[in-house]
Amino acid sequence: MGRAFTYVILGGGVAAGYAALEFTKRGVSQGELCIISEEPVAPYERPALSKGFLLPEARARLPSFHTCVGDNEERLTPKWYKEHGIELVLGTRVKSADVRRKTLLTATGETISYKILLVATGARALKLEEFGVTGSDAENVCYLRDLADANRIFDAMQSCPGGNAIVIGGGYIGMECAASLVINKINVTMVFPEAHCMARLFTPKIASYYEDYYKSKGVTFIKGTVLSSFDIDSDGKVTAVNLRDGSLLPADMVVVGIGIRPNTGLFEGQLNLEKGGIKVNGKLQSSNSSIYAIGDVAAFPVKLFGESRRLEHVDSARRSARHAVAAIMEPEKTGEFDYLPFFYSRVFTMSWQFYGDNVGEVVHYGDFSGNTIGAYWVSKGYLVGSFLEGGTKEEYEAIAKTTRLKPAIEDLGELERQGLGFALTV
Ligand code: FAD
Ligand code: NDP
Repeated sequence: MGRAFTYVILGGGVAAGYAALEFTKRGVSQGELCIISEEPVAPYERPALSKGFLLPEARARLPSFHTCVGDNEERLTPKWYKEHGIELVLGTRVKSADVRRKTLLTATGETISYKILLVATGARALKLEEFGVTGSDAENVCYLRDLADANRIFDAMQSCPGGNAIVIGGGYIGMECAASLVINKINVTMVFPEAHCMARLFTPKIASYYEDYYKSKGVTFIKGTVLSSFDIDSDGKVTAVNLRDGSLLPADMVVVGIGIRPNTGLFEGQLNLEKGGIKVNGKLQSSNSSIYAIGDVAAFPVKLFGESRRLEHVDSARRSARHAVAAIMEPEKTGEFDYLPFFYSRVFTMSWQFYGDNVGEVVHYGDFSGNTIGAYWVSKGYLVGSFLEGGTKEEYEAIAKTTRLKPAIEDLGELERQGLGFALTV
């Protein structure tokens, strides 16, 4: 049993949705394109799961956040795919790939063949078991990667109004879920191994700004330690978590956000890998010329840094998807992907954006007891990264533009004095 398509997108997440839209803009014919996804729903904007989806009121629910609403594009509902003759094969896991034969074998036993494959398999959440802790399959322990996970967090919150949540991990999931839990009137304790939150991006000074805000909302931070075990009752529910420093924290629910691993398994030994992802060139093309990789799973050259990166953010997924489709459909007109890394988050009423790279020396600016703060990273005499909390649209555009220009910086003191004004006048 088998079907054949010109283009197959493997994975039905953010990158898949944006790739599908780009294919239709560039004139794909009915029946030429297929998306295969393990998820039972059409591609959606994953960022909504830790934000609007968890709100106590006016909750975001599908179909409202199908791609590509996140980038002010069309909203691609299942009807849209049908109207455009795009085959959606949902709730279907691909269990093996044969890149020589150009075939994918699904868990339902179907062989789907392609001329061109876009790998958009994203990533999976790391499990506590991978760190030697058992019990994370308990009903009130939640991870967050897909809709099913988000529903589980939502149900867990509903089942313990005013209860205690332990949030494991101080990264993006930890920070955004902690904020959502607080908004739902759950008591939150965050536990993570580093000295401060968002250690991969924030400086200690920026981190302490957010931690102070979270503390003012009632969040407790336990830093420099990790979970060692769960106390589980006879119903299979976690009642407390034990930390390596010896403390015991009563828990009605646990949310775990301890990082991800890209889903490269189907292609290991068949495609070149790099930085944990599928290595691609500036056209998002892998070591096999019929296979492209986009989104979280792709390690692509970032011109601005002169090296390859694998980014785990939605803007990169959207733009790499569009670029790959352009490179496939109009190869002679499409140059190398020239991407400025962009990360953002929204928690409570706060909102920040970051562009570029967080290496080198840091200059902070703004009022750290107020609403607008920022920072620049300067490496080898050039401005390479910019962060801003509480900016306007124009201010965010200015820091993005400035970072892309990579201006020479001679005097860090002067940059600090000018603060946001520097970006606004470059
Ligand atoms: P995904 O969106 O993860 O999609 C991968 C798809 O592939 C899934 O549908 C999966 O089921 C499918 N798949 C995988 N393997 C198989 C297989 N073998 N067979 C069939 N299907 C398969 N980034 C930001 O910049 N800002 C944010 O605010 C933000 N918020 C986030 C909030 C949450 C809760 C999460 C989890 C992530 C967030 N991100 C955010 C990150 C962003 O969502 C990802 O970078 C983006 O989703 C990556 O897109 P992708 O298409 O590469 O992967
Ligand atoms: P992150 O990599 O952001 O953070 C993981 C955190 O968990 C780090 O603080 C890490 O510390 C810590 N950690 C690692 N191991 C343990 C452990 N055993 N016990 C306790 N803490 C541990 O990953 P997340 O899980 O938060 O996010 C998952 C993905 O979702 C990422 O790709 C992220 O980009 C994406 N996402 C993005 C958002 C955004 O851009 N706004 C919002 C939500 C999710 P260490 O650094 O020492 O390993």
